[in-house]
Amino acid sequence: MDQHEENRSLNTISFADLKLAPEILKALAESGYTTPTPIQAQAIPLVLEGCDLMAGAQTGTGKTAAFALPMLQKLLPHASSSTSPARHAVRALILVPTRELAIQVEESVKAYAKHSHLRSLVVFGGVDIKTQTPHLKRGVEILVATPGRLLDHIEMKSVLLNQVQMLVLDEADRMLDMGFMPDLKRILALLPKQRQNLMFSATFSNEIKKLSAEFLNRPKLIEVARSNATAENVTQKVYLVEQADKHALLAQLLRGSDATQALVFTKTKLTASRLAKQLQKEGVAADAIHGDKTQLERIQALDAFKQGKVTVLIATDVAARGLDIDQLPMVINYEIPSAAEDYVHRIGRTGRAGASGTAISLVSPEEEKYLVEIEKLIKHQIQKETANILHATRESTRTGRAPRGEHHERSHASQGERAVRGHVPRPAAPKKASHDPWFDKPYEPSGSATPVKQAEQQSSGKPKKEVAALFVRRPS
Ligand code: AMP
Repeated sequence: MDQHEENRSLNTISFADLKLAPEILKALAESGYTTPTPIQAQAIPLVLEGCDLMAGAQTGTGKTAAFALPMLQKLLPHASSSTSPARHAVRALILVPTRELAIQVEESVKAYAKHSHLRSLVVFGGVDIKTQTPHLKRGVEILVATPGRLLDHIEMKSVLLNQVQMLVLDEADRMLDMGFMPDLKRILALLPKQRQNLMFSATFSNEIKKLSAEFLNRPKLIEVARSNATAENVTQKVYLVEQADKHALLAQLLRGSDATQALVFTKTKLTASRLAKQLQKEGVAADAIHGDKTQLERIQALDAFKQGKVTVLIATDVAARGLDIDQLPMVINYEIPSAAEDYVHRIGRTGRAGASGTAISLVSPEEEKYLVEIEKLIKHQIQKETANILHATRESTRTGRAPRGEHHERSHASQGERAVRGHVPRPAAPKKASHDPWFDKPYEPSGSATPVKQAEQQSSGKPKKEVAALFVRRPS
C-alpha cells in the first residue's frame, strides 16, 4: 500500500473496525466521536497487539484516546464489580508532567470507561495528600499521576505498583524538560519488568530518543505529523513590536479579532499575573494560570475559561501544558519561548481536531533570535507583519493614569497612529523595583468576569467606539 492509500484507509476506518468492545464503543458514541483520529487509527491496533510504542503526537491529535482506549480494552478482563480493594489492583500507570494534564487525562479515561467496572483515579501534588489516600486504598485499575506525588504515595505505602502491566509516559518531552528524569527512574524501577510501555511526545529530541531506548522494548514508531511540525490548520503570524508596546497591541488584537476567546502565553508567572490584572482593569474578562496559583485557583480559572466566562486566559508554558480546551480559536504568544519546542506545544492549543486556528506571536527585537530557532525547528518561515498601534486603545491614555509594568518603559506617546517598530533607538529601561503595591501582593482571584465588549460598556457608562486595529504587511 502506498502512503496515499494508507492515509485513505486510515481515514475511513471506524472504531468498530478497531475491534473495540461494545462498552467502549458506547462511551465513544456518547462522547460524540464518530471516527478515530489518525493517531488513534495507528496506535490502537499496535497497543492491542501488545507492542511498545513511541508515538510522536502533540496534544489536540486525540492522543489520549489513542492510548486510553486500547488500555481499557486490555484491562476489561480484570474489571470487577466487587468492592474489595484486592480486586482493583493498579494495572495501568499513566505518568504526566502537570496537574492540569493529569486531570484532563483522567477525565477522558473515566468517560471512556464509564460503561465498565474499571476504576480510575488521578493524583497530583499541590493538594493535601491525605485527601487522595483513601481513594487510592479503595483500589483503582488505572492511575494517572504526576511523578513527584506518585513517589510520595509510594513512600507512604498508599499504593502498590507490583501489578502494573501497562505504563504510559505522556508528554515525555515535557517531563524531561521539567527535570522529572530522576523521579521517572525511581518509579520505573518499582514496576514489574514484564509490562507494555507507551511513550508519547510532541517532539523528538535526542534526549527523548535516549529515554525511549532505555525504557521501551523494541518500540513501534508512529508519528501523526512530521516531528516538530506545527498543525497545518493553524494560521501562524508574527507581529514585530517593541516589548513596551506589546500590551497595547495585545489589547488591539483582542478587540479587533473575531475570536471569542484567546489563550495568551507569557514567559514568566509575574508577566502572566500582571497582564491579567491590566486587562481586567480595562474591562477584559481575563485571568491567569501559572505555577504559583493554588490548584483550586488553576482549576477555577480553567473551568471559567472553558465555560466562556473568562475570554482571555493568560498562561505560562508549564501551566498550559496539555490543556484540553475545545475549539480554541486563537493563541497569542505575548512573549515567544526561548525553547523552540515550546512554540510547537503552545500553538498546539488551537486548530484541534480539524478546526482552524490562529497563532499570533508578538516578537520584540530582543526575541528575534528565538524566532530564528523556531522557524528552523518548524522548517517554515512565519508570515511577518509590522503592527500600527492606535494610541486611543491605551488604558493609560484614556484614564490619564500613569501606566505601569512594561509601560514604565514607554516614551511619551505621540498622538494618533504610530508605527510600532520604531527606527529610533529607545533608551534602555532602568531596572528598578516596582513601587506598585500590587506586585508585592499575592495573587487574588478576580471576581466574575464579563465578556470584553459588555464590560467596556459597563465601565464607561456608555458604549465605547470600536477601535480599529490596523496592521500593515511588512515589505519583504
Ligand atoms: P487529546 O489530543 O487527547 O488532548 O484530544 C484532543 C481533543 O480531541 C479532546 O477534546 C478529545 O475529546 C477530542 N477527541 C479525541 N479523539 C476524538 C475523536 N476520535 N473524535 C472527535 N474528537 C476526539
